[in-house]
Amino acid sequence: PPPRPYVGRFAPSPTGPLHMGSLISALASYLDAKANHGQWLIRIEDLDPPREVAGASEEIVACLAQHGLYSDRPILKQSSRLDAYEQALERLQQRQLSFYCQCSRAQLKATGSIYPGYCRHLDLPKPGQYATRLRVDASTIQYHDGIQGPQRQSLADEVGDFIIKRKDQLHSYQLAVVVDDHFQGVSHVVRGADLLSSTERQLFLARQLDYSSPQYAHLPVLTNDAGQKLSKQTFAPSLDPAKNKDNILFALKFLNQPLPPKEISKLPQLLFWATQHWQIKRIAAHTSQHVSLS
Ligand code: GLU
Repeated sequence: PPPRPYVGRFAPSPTGPLHMGSLISALASYLDAKANHGQWLIRIEDLDPPREVAGASEEIVACLAQHGLYSDRPILKQSSRLDAYEQALERLQQRQLSFYCQCSRAQLKATGSIYPGYCRHLDLPKPGQYATRLRVDASTIQYHDGIQGPQRQSLADEVGDFIIKRKDQLHSYQLAVVVDDHFQGVSHVVRGADLLSSTERQLFLARQLDYSSPQYAHLPVLTNDAGQKLSKQTFAPSLDPAKNKDNILFALKFLNQPLPPKEISKLPQLLFWATQHWQIKRIAAHTSQHVSLS
């Protein structure tokens, strides 16, 4: 088949304002797309209303714009895609690739983090109150990560049959991300290494749905002075848009990219220069990296 056109994306969850860690992912996915003459999309992963912060998705989009980062297509919200997720679930269920699960949290807690398969053969009827799990098999999933190199995982030994629709009837991140990356024709995913160990699940799920998968590249995650990933939970400071160029320069340094000469003083020129000098190969093959924000 002919090579697919490059389509990249940044897919934030609207759980709070952007911080430097998310800007690094946004910028890296943007520059990789632009350097490859591709499209770059913003997708809002608002699948989990209880975790959503009011106004966060507008705030994220505005903050990206203040950093010169605009989606090449109308922004897709996952909350508008529930029918597509249901169709995918239906297909998996018809082919008996998934099953309903009534296990309680307490029951599973006692067995550790790998699903022990209690409901795998129960053939429970269509749920109202059950979770849905994807059956995994004994094969090892392998792929070459564009930054982290060769990866492999045995889903049966390391993950178990995993949730694609939760007991509270919310669609899982794993399901939605695979359905939407396919729907939007995403060819390249550049994101934080906190999602490295989700990738094999996403490759397997895509295969079960007869989708071709994107190429993946996982960036080191920015950690704070205490060695934790920047997030709302670790009180990551939100970005100051008045310092947009400094923020971009910080992100470029973190990504080990060449820095523009001093004459490049305006934001659009800075992004253009960074695109022309982008070398994904220069990014360290580490899953985390600490740089002090102050
Ligand atoms: N929405 C996910 C997050 O904020 C990222 C999804 C992805 O890039 O695959 O962590």
